[in-house]
Amino acid sequence: MAQPPPDVEGDDCLPAYRHLFCPDLLRDKVAFITGGGSGIGFRIAEIFMRHGCHTVIASRSLPRVLMAARKLAGATGRRCLPLCMDVRAPPAVMAAVDQALKEFGRIDILINCAAGNFLCPAGALSFNAFKTVMDIDTGGTFNVSRVLYEKFFRDHGGVIVNITATLGNRGQALQVHAGSAKAAVDAMTRHLAVEWGPQNIRVNSLAPGPISGGPQAGLSTKVTASPLQRLGNKTEIAHSVLYLASPLASYVTGAVLVADGGAWLTFPNDVKGLADFASFSSKL
Ligand code: NAP
Repeated sequence: MAQPPPDVEGDDCLPAYRHLFCPDLLRDKVAFITGGGSGIGFRIAEIFMRHGCHTVIASRSLPRVLMAARKLAGATGRRCLPLCMDVRAPPAVMAAVDQALKEFGRIDILINCAAGNFLCPAGALSFNAFKTVMDIDTGGTFNVSRVLYEKFFRDHGGVIVNITATLGNRGQALQVHAGSAKAAVDAMTRHLAVEWGPQNIRVNSLAPGPISGGPQAGLSTKVTASPLQRLGNKTEIAHSVLYLASPLASYVTGAVLVADGGAWLTFPNDVKGLADFASFSSKL
């Protein structure tokens, strides 16, 4: 069985990288990655750049994306434009996309990775907390997709990959907000794939499972019950996103690719155990 590619915790680039795909796979393409300053989004940006892509990384914290862009460009030699943008604010999204188009003259790929999440029992979840997660995950995915469609993809084609989750597949405890938001995004993926396919726009979802260092990792004490019997890592998720964004997936649209080692099929979903798990109160 193939060994997982090495990864590092934290938002740092990989000290070494061995290409499995052709290093030119995304040469001179431009990817706009929301949430690209941290976590999975950071690693997606790095892996894309290691395959020749330039990137735009956008999130609310300018210091975060500035520092990430410096690291990414330094490690890969490709250009990375850091932008401050809240996916919930269409005018800010429009301004960011304009700036990206001014800088690069094109955007080929959109990765909707920005999201908010925390663990909380439904009965203790504030109305505002539920709405905020829906606004960021679902509303934000629509906002950025819609702006990019209007400003570039409608006339030039493009690829969208929405980063979702498997939480809603079986209804995981403590995750009604994120599970509902991500299920809606998977539906959006199919709607937009149908509606925008004629403009040569492919739209797919990539649903990661629990990864090492991620917020769900604490729930995964029984991870050895999953088919591959381990957590995943950010590089493995980024490789699956790379596949979907690349011409290797030229005939794939409207799909949800699950990259979780088969975990959602066998995860115990132990209601009592999960309910006992210390829940974070929402600060929203
Ligand atoms: P993360 O490091 O917390 O990344 C979330 C990113 O979204 C941050 O860079 C954050 O930056 C940005 N963001 C949040 N709200 C935003 C807003 N309103 N506008 C713009 N940007 C915003 O989380 P992650 O664990 O890597 O997760 C990345 C994606 O994978 C998410 O879609 C998540 O749901 C999904 N996922 C993760 C796991 C896992 O185990 N980690 C499992 C399944 C799915 P700012 O704070 O600077 O805005």
